[in-house]
Amino acid sequence: METPGSQTSLHRANLERVVRAVRMAGSLTQAEIARSTGLSAATVSNIVRELKDGGTVEVTPTSAGGRRARSVSLSGDAGIVIGVDFGHTHLRVAVGNLAHQVLAEESEPLDVDASSAQGFGRAEQLVNRLIETTGISPEKVIGVGLGVPGPIDVESGTLGSTSILPGWTGINPSQELAGRLGVPVYVDNDANLGALGELVWGSGRGVRDLAYIKVASGVGAGLVIEGNIYRGPGGTAGEIGHITLDESGPVCRCGNRGCLETFTAARYVLPLLQPSHGPDLTMERVVQLAREGDPG
Ligand SMILES: [Zn+2]
Repeated sequence: METPGSQTSLHRANLERVVRAVRMAGSLTQAEIARSTGLSAATVSNIVRELKDGGTVEVTPTSAGGRRARSVSLSGDAGIVIGVDFGHTHLRVAVGNLAHQVLAEESEPLDVDASSAQGFGRAEQLVNRLIETTGISPEKVIGVGLGVPGPIDVESGTLGSTSILPGWTGINPSQELAGRLGVPVYVDNDANLGALGELVWGSGRGVRDLAYIKVASGVGAGLVIEGNIYRGPGGTAGEIGHITLDESGPVCRCGNRGCLETFTAARYVLPLLQPSHGPDLTMERVVQLAREGDPG
């Protein structure tokens, strides 16, 4: 029997700290693990050896600051994870492993706002098709991360506002998808997940506070404060898209007038610029042109 504070439970807690640090970062050197967990270099070295022998992590030679180092990442064989992203106009599914490698990815156009049942049906089909094409055994799938284009009340798992995704009223997205796929599903707002992606792999690496602004069919933001996603009451902290800029402005899909989204989302910005900049203009290109000082 384990008692709190015993050698065994202390060892297990240290083991979990190392695995959590590596999982969050994707890959870390042993020195970085020691820094982020507060464990000694010798303890980290012993734990990494134990995890490697058990097949949980992989250790590859690398260099850090010109010195030889060992890079630790979770083993690709340790489990398969699936990402499902609902946008306002698309569905995207990715299959990856715990080493943060994407093995397959596909997206298809879908009017997600119209009907959640149709959306979940298509997601189920696409997930099963990708599992089949990658040749992965379905038993290896340990969980699904689900992004939805609306505020999520993480405690209840339901949408924090019904006006932003009217076709989803009364739906619990994670329960709905978990029931269809038979594995645990973790849900969050898509802009929060975008912020998390930047924090782990992108321009937010090594940063404690950041704002991720998403401008696509919808407009939203993900906020990271002190290294954690800040969701706010009902998950609505990043919902900047439906802030009123002009009370007599164009009608928004949420029912109000002149929301930030009606001036900045792709479907409003692109038609304004396409006559002068060509029909193939994308939001990515618009941002690039703005950086280059394009007058439009
Ligand atoms: Zn609106």
